[in-house]
Amino acid sequence: MHYPWQLNQWRQLSSQIDKDRLPHAMLLSGPKYIGKYQFSLTLAQRMLCESPIGGYACGSCKQCHLVTANSHPDLLMVKPEEEGKAIRIDLIRALGEFANKTAQQGGWKIALIYPAEAMNLNSANALLKNLEEPNAKTLLLLVSHEPARLSATIRSRCRMVKFPIPADLEVRNWLSQVVGPQEDVGQLLEFSEGRPLLALQLLETDWLEQRRSLDGLLDDLVAHRSTPLAIAEKCLANDPLMTIDWLYSRVASDLRYGRTAVSPRLMFRYLDRLIQAKKLMQSSSNPNIQLLWEELLLNWQLLYIVK
Ligand SMILES: [Zn+2]
Repeated sequence: MHYPWQLNQWRQLSSQIDKDRLPHAMLLSGPKYIGKYQFSLTLAQRMLCESPIGGYACGSCKQCHLVTANSHPDLLMVKPEEEGKAIRIDLIRALGEFANKTAQQGGWKIALIYPAEAMNLNSANALLKNLEEPNAKTLLLLVSHEPARLSATIRSRCRMVKFPIPADLEVRNWLSQVVGPQEDVGQLLEFSEGRPLLALQLLETDWLEQRRSLDGLLDDLVAHRSTPLAIAEKCLANDPLMTIDWLYSRVASDLRYGRTAVSPRLMFRYLDRLIQAKKLMQSSSNPNIQLLWEELLLNWQLLYIVK
């Protein structure tokens, strides 16, 4: 099933399926952690189902069972071996063979490439042939968190279906139902920058606790209960890049919700400073991290203390 915030995209595609006007290749794009993969699976199952009910897969026919068991012969998953790795060209070649064969179950054939930006140049070039010479009753679903990293040629040969970050209220309602009333849904939403599946993931790790503890330290700084020096030492114990990302997301979200004591211009300048600091930490120049933290925290304090 797709998520509630994907209803518009679903209706649009459903009506195209009903009119038999679905394009042969689609690019499902939008930020990570909002459920595009789930949507593409729901769509694939709908296409393969023998007797859809109300526009959705029935969930009980042979085809539906094959899909949910991950063993449908006419549904090809093309993914990197590990997250973050490239999609190998032999997988795209296999996709070419899959597209040329007749469907084993007599219906549609669907290939799902996830995430599409993991294709390297060779893989992408190999895919172009399939995009340019589509096979009958064969659907290519490219799912991408970063469509800008795909070549313009690939993008121009797919129908783009966009998945923006859903409205706060929609995610809030959904999260409250899923995680229960004991969780601070507003804070989860904020930490995950509105991406519902990331919010769930944060709950499953100790990320949330660590982030809350950093927020507590930052609040201490503003309230003069602590000093940049003392907090810099605590920051040193954490993963520096992660802590920089947290600081960034805290400032960005304070900016978004208008929780600022200074002008937005100064906040943006500070965000730039954080990006520079992160680059410096990743560089080989071996910076003095303690000093860097002290400077960042001192400047952070200046942003929040009302004069
Ligand atoms: Zn079915």
